[in-house]
Amino acid sequence: MEQLKNSDPQIYNWINQEHERQESELEMIASENYTSLAVMQAQGSILTNKYAEGYPSKRYYGGCQNVDLIESLAIQRAQNLFKAPFANVQAHSGSGANMAAFFALIKPQDKIMGMDLSHGGHLTHGSPVNFSGFLFEAHSYGLNPQTGLLDYDLIRSQALKVRPQLIIAGYSAYPRYLDFHAFKAIADEVGASLLVDMAHFAGLVASGHHPSPIGIADIVTTTTHKTLRGPRGGLILTHQEELAKKINSKIFPGIQGGPLEHVIAAKAVAFGEALNPSFGEYIDQVIKNAQTLATELVNQGFDLVTGGTDNHLLLIDLSKKELTGKEAETALGNSGITVNKNTVPNEKRSPFVTSGVRIGTPALTTRGMKQEQMIRIAHWITQTLNHPTDQDLHKKIKQEIHELCKQFPVYGTQKRPQ
Ligand SMILES: *Cc1c(COP(=O)(O)O)cnc(C)c1O
Repeated sequence: MEQLKNSDPQIYNWINQEHERQESELEMIASENYTSLAVMQAQGSILTNKYAEGYPSKRYYGGCQNVDLIESLAIQRAQNLFKAPFANVQAHSGSGANMAAFFALIKPQDKIMGMDLSHGGHLTHGSPVNFSGFLFEAHSYGLNPQTGLLDYDLIRSQALKVRPQLIIAGYSAYPRYLDFHAFKAIADEVGASLLVDMAHFAGLVASGHHPSPIGIADIVTTTTHKTLRGPRGGLILTHQEELAKKINSKIFPGIQGGPLEHVIAAKAVAFGEALNPSFGEYIDQVIKNAQTLATELVNQGFDLVTGGTDNHLLLIDLSKKELTGKEAETALGNSGITVNKNTVPNEKRSPFVTSGVRIGTPALTTRGMKQEQMIRIAHWITQTLNHPTDQDLHKKIKQEIHELCKQFPVYGTQKRPQ
C-alpha cells in the first residue's frame, strides 16, 4: 500500500487503524467475517477498470474476453457449490439481489409476506422504510411468542387470510433451521411464489450443515460476505430456466448498470475456497463454537431466544434483566467485544434500545478460535454484562482480549494486498 500511503495518507491511516481494530477486538457481529487475502487481491485488482454491461459473450462493450472467462467461472462455481442450475453473480449486494428477485416474481402493489424485522427478518422483507415495503403491500409473520420459534401453522393461517403473491423465508437473527418444505407447502396452497433469502446461512448450506432451499424455492438469494466468507456482494440462484432469464434482465438493465467484475472475480475465488473440503471443517467449527458459547452463557444464568442454536448465531434475551440491549452492546464494546443489540420476541423496548444482543461466531472461527476460547469469551461476556458500568473491569478485560487476539492473527504481518 506504498502508493496509497504517499498519495492519500489520511485514508491510508484510517485503513490502518481499522485493520488494527479488526485484529485486536473480538468481532462477534453475526453477519461479519474475514475474507482471505486471495479474495481481497482479486477485489483490489485492475478489474475495477472494466465496463462489461451485459453477460458473458453478450456484452455491450468490447474487450470483455478476460472478464467473460472470470464471470463464467464464478457462475460455474456458484452452480457447483449450491447444486443450482442457474446463477447470477452480478448483484452488488444482498438487498439488490432481493430487489431483482422481487421484480422477477411479482409486480408493484402485489402482496408479500416476510418475517417481521423485529422478530429477526430483514429490511428488504417488507419494512415500510424499504422498497419492499413501499412498492408492495407488505404483511409480516412473526415468531411464536411462547417458543420463540417460527410456527408454520400460524404462518399458514395468516397466508390463507392475506393471500400473498410472494412469501419470503430467511432471517438476519434467528438461531434455528428453516423448514423450506413447510414454507413451500404454504406457498403452493395460497398460490404464492417462494423466495428464500439465505444471506446469513449460505455458508451452512454450501457445506451441507443446513438443508438446502435449492429446487424448493422459486428463487434463492444470498449475500456472499457473511458465513460464505467472500467479498461484499450478492448472488441469485434458481432451478427454473425461465426465471433465470427474468432474473438476469431484472439485474441488468432492470436495476443495475455495469457489473463489478473485480468483485465477481473475488466471488469466484471465495466460491473456489468454499468448494474445498476445509470449508466444511470451518463451518463445522463455527457451529460448535456457537453451541459452546450458548451452553456456557446458559450455565452463567442468561436466557437465550429458543434456548440455544443450530447455526452460527445466538440471541441473548435480557427481557428479565434491567440491562437493555443498547447498554449491553456499549458495555461489551468497552470490553473489546463487538456485537449488536437486537430485538427479541415479545419485545417491550423500542428498536433503538431493545432487550437482546445478537452474537455470532463466523469471524472468530476464521481466525482459528475454538471451544476453549469460546469458554473464556463467555466468561468475559458474563463479567461485562453483570457489571455493565464498571469501566476498570472493562479495561482489564479489553487488555486480556487484546492478548488473546495476538495469538490468533487475522492477517498478521501479511497486511492487506499490495
Ligand atoms: C444481510 C442481509 C441482506 C442484505 O445484504 P446487503 O448486502 O447488506 O444488502 C439481505 N437479507 C438478509 C436476510 C440479510 O441478513
